[in-house]
Amino acid sequence: MGYLDDLASDIDGWKRDGRYRKIKVWESGSDTWMTLNGRRILQMSSNNYLGLTHHPKLKEAASQAIDKYGVGSGSVRTITGTLDIHEELEIELATFKGTEAALVFQSGFTTNQGALSSILGPDDVVISDELNHASIIDGIRLTKASRKIYAHKDMDQLEAVLKETQHHRKRVVVTDGVFSMDGDIAPLPAIVQLAETYDAIVYVDDAHASGVLGKNGKGSTDHFGLHGRVHIQIGTLSKAIGAVGGYVAGAQLLKEHLIHTARPFLFSTSQPPAVAATCLAAIRVLQGSADLVTRLWDNANDFRTQLKQLGFDTGASETPIIPIIVGDPARTMRFSDRLLEAGIFAQGIVYPTVAMDKGRVRLIVTAQHTKEDLAFALNALQQVGREFGLIS
Ligand SMILES: *Cc1c(COP(=O)(O)O)cnc(C)c1O
Repeated sequence: MGYLDDLASDIDGWKRDGRYRKIKVWESGSDTWMTLNGRRILQMSSNNYLGLTHHPKLKEAASQAIDKYGVGSGSVRTITGTLDIHEELEIELATFKGTEAALVFQSGFTTNQGALSSILGPDDVVISDELNHASIIDGIRLTKASRKIYAHKDMDQLEAVLKETQHHRKRVVVTDGVFSMDGDIAPLPAIVQLAETYDAIVYVDDAHASGVLGKNGKGSTDHFGLHGRVHIQIGTLSKAIGAVGGYVAGAQLLKEHLIHTARPFLFSTSQPPAVAATCLAAIRVLQGSADLVTRLWDNANDFRTQLKQLGFDTGASETPIIPIIVGDPARTMRFSDRLLEAGIFAQGIVYPTVAMDKGRVRLIVTAQHTKEDLAFALNALQQVGREFGLIS
């Protein structure tokens, strides 16, 4: 059997299960309304929480950086690829997060790969929430540390694992700050308390919490008032911040260690200068005003309340990530397709990303959605939801 026959048989299987998908090609930039096959579609699934992809200050910073530095950084960070704009961004991020230091990577994904594989050795144990992001799972796979998984947000299980792993050199508890599939928030105060009791390190990935939770979008540590008690904070620059990149915020010694050990930092070219400049401008916009974050939460809370009033199952959502639970994969994808016909893009998420019977469309409300946009979305959801018997 040729290798292409193997691939074709996998693909046929996905088609039979209703899991096969074609990538959609959008004809305009990330925004509330986007063009698909010449049609204007209301976007309800981007991570562009604050609409910063089009912010005039970010666009200006990007073009000025291109004029000054050109388009590429020319090297990895440790050779000639650290420009002053990268350093400025790291200083600004550390100030924003209230930590000693920050270190920027090319993406949130590589940040987790670099950070987890650097800090975890063979004598250590990593203790991870079962619903943590794929980049955490892969980062853990790159280490020789022992692994323990606790049921989602189950603090009794976490405590039991902390008790039974006391012989390990170092214990690292890893959690998403906001869980990306359900839009629920990690019980960080309880995690910190347990970690302090059992002398463990707390590692929180705030990809969906940066620019969203906490004062001016400073993240989950700020949201819960836990400054100084969370050891390692991961953030992404790709979601609410509007560009691409990731960072570790924490101790200066952690930063120095990562500079010597984190493989994506050492062996992959640094962010283009225009990207670093864009991220710097974004953090300054956030530091300057909480208006966008306030609008984001007003929109999200209104929209979630209205969906619930219509009778939709929004699962555990308590953030701008709002799933509508539909069921099996094929039905979920049909629901998403019908919404698209009605003018709404709501990404279907199905097995194996979520459980077989917990397929859902995942809505993400942004600060840029107007009341009219959200009313349009609710109306379409109500009609299609009735067609599918999800609401009466
Ligand atoms: C999206 C996401 C990432 C990856 O971030 P990128 O910058 O897009 O690579 C990492 N962790 C979590 C929890 C995420 O949701």
